[in-house]
Amino acid sequence: MGLPMAEVVFERVGKSYGEIRVIEGLDLEVRDRELMVLVGPSGCGKSTALRMVAGLEEVTSGTISIGGRVVNDLPPKDRDIAMVFQSYALYPHMTVRENLEFGLKMRKTPRAEIDRLVGAAAEVLGLADLLARKPKQLSGGQRQRVAVGRAIVRQPKVFLFDEPLSNLDAKLRVQTRAEIAQLQARLQVTTVYVTHDQVEAMTMGHRIAILDAGRLQQVGPPLEVYERPANLFVARFIGTQPMNLFPGVVGEAGDLVADDLRLPLPPALRAAAGSPGRQVTAGIRPEAIREANGEPAGAETARLGVEVELAEPLGHEVVVHGRHGRHTLVATLGPHRVPKLGSRLELSIDLAQLHLFDTQTEQRLSA
Ligand code: ADP
Ligand code: MG
Repeated sequence: MGLPMAEVVFERVGKSYGEIRVIEGLDLEVRDRELMVLVGPSGCGKSTALRMVAGLEEVTSGTISIGGRVVNDLPPKDRDIAMVFQSYALYPHMTVRENLEFGLKMRKTPRAEIDRLVGAAAEVLGLADLLARKPKQLSGGQRQRVAVGRAIVRQPKVFLFDEPLSNLDAKLRVQTRAEIAQLQARLQVTTVYVTHDQVEAMTMGHRIAILDAGRLQQVGPPLEVYERPANLFVARFIGTQPMNLFPGVVGEAGDLVADDLRLPLPPALRAAAGSPGRQVTAGIRPEAIREANGEPAGAETARLGVEVELAEPLGHEVVVHGRHGRHTLVATLGPHRVPKLGSRLELSIDLAQLHLFDTQTEQRLSA
């Protein structure tokens, strides 16, 4: 017998606090057993969306369903969800074991079943040796695991995570995000995971949903979103080094003209770019730019001379900030040479990796 299906579906969901609209027209389907990451800047409505699934906030308009059942009016305890918060919200006076057992006892789960579930969760999470400790005797990472354990023992249909790694230091965050992703894969429980951190979203999500100002911007697998951002917001938000963006106009020669910067548009982009004079913004990721090394510009590349304003050696690459006229751009170059500040660099742009957006609507134009 398989687990019951547990898709989480938002249909035209809106949320207002009085006059203030926090979420508008949210349509999103989290598939059964999927790990969906809801990502966006602080204040964009991520927690609100999650709390509506949990039943901690009322839905103002539209519907939320879990496993095919509309839950708008269902009390939180009947929704079969378990939530993990940024603040672990452990009971300080209880041991790890008591913290893990608490919810099960409240639900009058038989003793033998409690022991089985707590034992299994402690095993999975590496907490078996810590069961007698109090929360204050644990590290941040261990506390976080107890909070996850408390969610696991409930065997919910859906896991909800709200920025669970924010209180951990950088190294532990990287380790723990991998652990949570592996755990989710093992338990196969539909999961909605909220974070403001685009790296966390990219590395953990089967798909990611990007939210800005209460509106969904794009949903898709991480690489699809990275390679084909639907609009300028997503283009700026996703990517550790931001995408270089050059607002300009379509030129008579079927190129992009942004002041003294001219980029020939590859044939595939010309039709999408539209007629000369249209205001468009070209986007180039830093890794689509490299040092020209003397070779001439071809049909597939454009050349660009810059003055180096900043060079950051990261070990595996050097992040170079260069100036070309009024434009600055970021390029990630090979690791072995750090260009001198103020020196000239000839760069080569891979035109096949050019993105094109309508400057007015901010929507993607290129396929
Ligand atoms: P996020 O989790 O993405 O940082 P939230 O969902 O917490 O954002 O909040 C979204 C917006 O809703 C914010 O602008 C916040 O100020 C507002 N908000 C949250 N709770 C309330 C409330 N109880 N009353 C009024 N505004 C609220
Ligand atoms: Mg939040």
